Amino acid sequence: MRLQQPARHWALGLIVPLLLQGPVRAGQFAESAALPPLAGVGVPTDPALVGAPYLDPARPLEVRVDDLLARLTPQEKASLLHGSGGFADYGGIGRIGLPRIVMTDGPQGVRAEVPTTALPSGIALAASWNTGLAERYGALLGRDAKATGHRVLLGPGVNLARTPLNGRNFEYFGEDPLLAGKIAAGYIRGVQSEGVAACIKHLVANDQESARLAASSELDERTLREFHLRPFEIAVREAGPWAVMPGYNRVRGVAAVDNAHVNRTLMREAAGSDAAFVSDWGAWDDGADAAALNGGTTLRMPFDADAKYDRGLLELVRRGQVAQPTLDEAVRRNLRLLFRVGAFDPAGAVPPRHAAGNAALARQAALEGAVLLKNDGATLPFDPARVKRVLVLGPNADRRFTMAQGGDELLKLGGSGATFPVQEITALAGLRERLGAQVIGYPWQLAGGKLDRDGLALAARAVDAVVFVGGIDFSFDHEGNSGERPDKTTLALPGPQAEVVKLLAAANPRTVAVLAGGSPMALGELAAAAPALLLQWYPGQEGGRALADLLFGDVSPSGKLPFTLGKRLADWRVHRLGAAAYPGLLFGKDGKPARKQPDLTRSQYFRGDVRVAYLEGPALGYRGFELDGIAPDFAFGHGLSYTRFDYSDARLSADGGAVTFTLRNAGPRAGAEVVQLYARPPGTAATVPENDRPLRGLVGFAKVRLEPGESRVVTLPFRAADLATWSDARRGWRSWPGAWTLEVAASSQDVRATVGFDQP
Ligand code: BGC
Repeated sequence: MRLQQPARHWALGLIVPLLLQGPVRAGQFAESAALPPLAGVGVPTDPALVGAPYLDPARPLEVRVDDLLARLTPQEKASLLHGSGGFADYGGIGRIGLPRIVMTDGPQGVRAEVPTTALPSGIALAASWNTGLAERYGALLGRDAKATGHRVLLGPGVNLARTPLNGRNFEYFGEDPLLAGKIAAGYIRGVQSEGVAACIKHLVANDQESARLAASSELDERTLREFHLRPFEIAVREAGPWAVMPGYNRVRGVAAVDNAHVNRTLMREAAGSDAAFVSDWGAWDDGADAAALNGGTTLRMPFDADAKYDRGLLELVRRGQVAQPTLDEAVRRNLRLLFRVGAFDPAGAVPPRHAAGNAALARQAALEGAVLLKNDGATLPFDPARVKRVLVLGPNADRRFTMAQGGDELLKLGGSGATFPVQEITALAGLRERLGAQVIGYPWQLAGGKLDRDGLALAARAVDAVVFVGGIDFSFDHEGNSGERPDKTTLALPGPQAEVVKLLAAANPRTVAVLAGGSPMALGELAAAAPALLLQWYPGQEGGRALADLLFGDVSPSGKLPFTLGKRLADWRVHRLGAAAYPGLLFGKDGKPARKQPDLTRSQYFRGDVRVAYLEGPALGYRGFELDGIAPDFAFGHGLSYTRFDYSDARLSADGGAVTFTLRNAGPRAGAEVVQLYARPPGTAATVPENDRPLRGLVGFAKVRLEPGESRVVTLPFRAADLATWSDARRGWRSWPGAWTLEVAASSQDVRATVGFDQP
């Protein structure tokens, strides 16, 4: 067994852009004219290649790939198996007319040397439940990637929220594989529609940042296939990502990069991926070239190789450690990626950055992702005629989440997904734009965390409404490379937020709590105190404007929770199973847990044989809460609106492959409803998921926009294959004949209609 090396190049990728950006003004980034050249002017220096079929954009992709593969020298093949220097460069072979192409991060906004559009974070996109929006979000990223000279975008990330503590939950798409997979598919279609490759990551079960370079995810085949792999599989089936990123972790003891079962059997053979498999940064170890190539990874990133290294790769073939067809297959996949991003074709038009519409889309995404968790007595929306003076306060009232607020803070922007927009409108700035000087500020707590109770109450009484902006920030939610505590260690909100909201609400009943954060937080006490509660995630550069739109009712909230908000950590089954399940145990050479266990939550760089046992199996997220009879604070799929939706006439479609029903906006305002379809298996619910029985789960959803009084017939298709389970005993998929119940629902716990379905 082999352990991962830390990704040393990582920090460079963040620091270099900052240096290039020059001095930072508060709230703004300086523009710079220096953009890297766009890939794509295939003029081979070898005159014998001029006019070769592979250079002809009119030829079919596979013809071009075959033609070029046959013309490559062995050395060229070797050099196409790794990066070509820098943080994310690849290619650059003059003889064949291949320019260098550059990859970049940007799950939620392209990270570049110049400002780009900062969209709401991935979890906010998932909370929109809008696959069309995901496509537009992806297309914007594709355009910003091209506009900044990049041809591969290292996103989306689709790892499931197995634990609410995972530092990267904010980048990902929540706890349900169908939702994550469908949002990812939309995103990928969007990115690739612009001729830029999406790189779906991190394959697979890379679900914690603590000890992220050492952890082995020990999960059974069912849990792997039905849950953790499924978002990847759906994305491959529905969108065909041109690149896939095996992660830092091991899967059942085998490094993700070397994991032939995952990369070959599941992703290539079962799911049908024709992508390049790009190692996470530094995850392909020195000395592990044969293991990685045989394991199905095709491209080592980042890397700067000399001729000796390339000769070493070719030696592997000569010595029989890697078969020639294996090496050729890897090169073929990488060439496919290069052709797909137009690396050999005349450069197309470079889209403008900050194009008209980018900010509008960022705002739209922030609007659609925000989840109204509670709204007692119709506290929201504010009536603009009555609400003029507003008190805005709280730890996140004026916090920017996407921009460096000082060089050393870069790593605090959540990690590799950091984005640097031209400006970010905070909650305070957004409300000031709308209300001008009528927005009042007040310190929510004094130095040393003390509360000025009288002052707060007085300030709250003097205004028409109070907006408390709290939650958490990137010192909680962040990638493992950002500091010494990779995953969060608590669900608690920092500081006396609940107490302050209680105090404010007692002084002014029109008090709204707005929360930032990208992972589950314990909201019970605060939620009980706040008349209205809006979860805005990390809302991107236009967040404050979207907030004003929502608070004043220009737009009705339409987001729904992409994960369960439990009351306490122990509500999640994974956290009741002890350290073996999370954060894992260090094993000794004797194959047993070491007697003295280190604190694995302290570092991503922890080395050693750490094993994380996925003992919860399929009892992931709401499925676990339901099996264990635990009531969360807010259920998966929950989210309120300013209007009301009626569901009626639910029935099975004539072909048996869909449920149709009528949805009516029965309230006074325009709004959008996220309708959900859950499948409940026949018989009594399984209480232990250790056998291969199916669990109740999401099988379809849609977002439907309706004017007041408008109704529409909605059709939610489902796949019979999604009702099957993986049986280890049978080594195959097993369907469950009998009377299933299909539930049309407004949340996982708010079922509005049921329809029977007989599975033959
Ligand atoms: C992260 C990836 C990222 C890569 C390049 C790694 O540390 O895990 O998500 O794409 O760095 O920045």
